[in-house]
Amino acid sequence: MNMKLTNTLSTMLDDPRLFRQHAYVNGKWTHGDGGREETVFDPATGEVIGYIPWLEAHQIREAVDAADAAFAQWRALRADERAERLLAWHDLLQANREDLATIMTLEQGKPLPDARGEVEYGASFVRWFAEEGKRTFGETIPSHIPNAALGTLKEPVGIAALITPWNFPLAMITRKAAAALAAGCPVIVKPAGETPFSALALAELAERAGIPAGVFSVVLGEPAEVSKILCAEERIKALSFTGSTRVGRLLLEQSAQTVKRVSLELGGNAPFIVGPDMDPREAAFAAVAAKFQTAGQDCLAANRILVHESIHDEFVAHFAERMAALTVGNGMQGEVDLGPLIHRQAVDKAAAIVDDAISRGATLVAGDQTLAPGDNFFMPTLLTGVTPEMKVWREENFAPVAGVTAYRDDEEVIAMANDTEYGLAAYVYTHDIRRIWKLLRALEYGMVSVNSVKMTGPPVPFGGVKQSGLGREGGITGIDEYLETKYYCLGAL
Ligand code: NAD
Repeated sequence: MNMKLTNTLSTMLDDPRLFRQHAYVNGKWTHGDGGREETVFDPATGEVIGYIPWLEAHQIREAVDAADAAFAQWRALRADERAERLLAWHDLLQANREDLATIMTLEQGKPLPDARGEVEYGASFVRWFAEEGKRTFGETIPSHIPNAALGTLKEPVGIAALITPWNFPLAMITRKAAAALAAGCPVIVKPAGETPFSALALAELAERAGIPAGVFSVVLGEPAEVSKILCAEERIKALSFTGSTRVGRLLLEQSAQTVKRVSLELGGNAPFIVGPDMDPREAAFAAVAAKFQTAGQDCLAANRILVHESIHDEFVAHFAERMAALTVGNGMQGEVDLGPLIHRQAVDKAAAIVDDAISRGATLVAGDQTLAPGDNFFMPTLLTGVTPEMKVWREENFAPVAGVTAYRDDEEVIAMANDTEYGLAAYVYTHDIRRIWKLLRALEYGMVSVNSVKMTGPPVPFGGVKQSGLGREGGITGIDEYLETKYYCLGAL
């Protein structure tokens, strides 16, 4: 392993042992047997922040062997014993918030205050599921068979493989892992290669929290290679993936051979609907908040902003004014609103989407890319006159590019909002209760947020319809993804 530049990050941490450059399998920090490795960069500066090994196929299987061996012990613990360990993990996440945020900002780029917020958010799922694990109740069923007692037991489904993206490198892991662990399932995490260090710090803290060897492993490697092995493994019973719809489809197909429980949190293309009764300034400020979080690299980002024609021009003026006040820069340096995009390809994709829109008749209101403070940065951009044939309408841009379109009436805006293959989240801004109810019912989305930008958190079922995914994470049903229902009939009583 190349160690030349890798001490920089550890010197920035109060606890340097949170910066790990090995995979974590069966409670051990592991090199790749084949000598392959991947370099991890700070997206803000392009500097190398560390190296991770790529494991070979037999090493991925060792993680499965270890999880298989640990399963009996983990499931046999009482729910409150598992909860104690999860709560210890939660407390360690909170206690190490600054270090975890530093690691996250360096590998992901998001501003430090946002990274701190993600640590809190990620930890909140651990706490929630620590408690929910105590309430995996079965049922008693009124018997139709004479002298019998009928009911159900809830049992852990088995080993869960968790494949996660780079935009929320910590919370996308805890939202899955805490539910699985609370249910009694060991997990094997495959984080995104761009942001492995948050996942490895989570493993270090899981070990300290008393989560046994084999119950929480982090495997690293060539994504397609690792996923193929995990999908083909019969001993892995559940696969939970957050990422692009393209890869989600692939994993669903690959999991068919072993008939896994598959849960997919995929892309989004959120509409943000503004009713004619709204104060255009209030709505514009909310839309800016809903668009530019994590520099637009958020599956909940408001991509298509649909504004009633009567307030469109005023809305656009306020949006542009608010957007102009956003600061762009290195997330480690002071208070910036937007950090870099994850890599140069993301910048090129954003530029191509903007060019496509302009070539098809959209107006570029703001977004001067000559002001970008570095290669991986994209300045907040506002387009108006966006229409369905443009990429900015059809594709999830995953960048700070906002497209605004005027609409005439509710019927038109419903059709516009639903005109996408995605169905993750939608925003509605209006105070007209009849319009709220009408839109709530008509929008083909898994989540609809009315007059609020903030909508996620541990108690709610997060997930999408259409090509945005399968299953729900969080909430009282989040743990069901990792539980089997066993029916029993006690006859001849
Ligand atoms: P991605 O699909 O490229 O990567 C996600 C994960 O899949 C990573 O771990 C990656 O290493 C792995 N992967 C990549 N190619 C693979 C392959 N061929 N076979 C198997 N695994 C592979 O997505 P991304 O670029 O990391 O993340 C952005 C996407 O994630 C966006 O579409 C976004 O909307 C989505 N996302 C969804 C949610 C949600 O909850 N719905 C949350 C965050 C991000």
